[in-house]
Amino acid sequence: MKITSAEFVMSNSDVAKCPNEPLPEYAFIGRSNVGKSSLINMLVGRKSLAKTSGRPGKTQLINHFKINQNWFLVDLPGYGYARVSKKEKKVFQKYITEYFEKRKQLVCSFVLVDIRHEPQPIDMEFMEWLGVNGVSFAIIFTKADKLKPGAIRNYVDTYIQQLLETAWEEAPPYFVTSSANRTGKDELLDYIDSINKA
Ligand code: GDP
Repeated sequence: MKITSAEFVMSNSDVAKCPNEPLPEYAFIGRSNVGKSSLINMLVGRKSLAKTSGRPGKTQLINHFKINQNWFLVDLPGYGYARVSKKEKKVFQKYITEYFEKRKQLVCSFVLVDIRHEPQPIDMEFMEWLGVNGVSFAIIFTKADKLKPGAIRNYVDTYIQQLLETAWEEAPPYFVTSSANRTGKDELLDYIDSINKA
């Protein structure tokens, strides 16, 4: 898929106020600093559609972007950032939980994982929660330029193996990406395109 238009539509913290157009929706979520904003900007070919965060944890809203006039890319807040207060964390969890539970247009969620880090309990728990709640998801490994090809293979195999040993009977789809050198861009966009056309 080629991206011909990408426009910011709205930010809010209430799933009931999200756009009511019946377009398929793809959400991006992960731990703060995982490289989500960079990935979104790389995907849509813009320098700063999503704000790359000098201060992680700052963008605490559900952000809708309309792509090619026929699907929504949703940038969700990063989780697991220590400097967010307990109260903020609670509110955050509630509206994000509601987003996944109530958003009928949501087709697939992409859970971003930094390829340099050991599997993190917070990511594992989140994916398990998605599975229990029947939310389709795929994993996006980010910052692949930081590892050599052999190390990438090892990391991904170990990660998927761990998922299979804990909660999953089947591995979710996954993508290896780098915003620094555009690895994985075409694969991801083609994946979204194939779901949109199915
Ligand atoms: P976010 O908080 O998840 O939105 O993460 P950002 O996109 O703001 O990125 C966090 C940090 O990781 C920044 O310093 C980025 O420059 C860096 N980063 C993001 N993507 C990549 C990547 O693909 N490769 C490398 N080497 N660094 C990256």
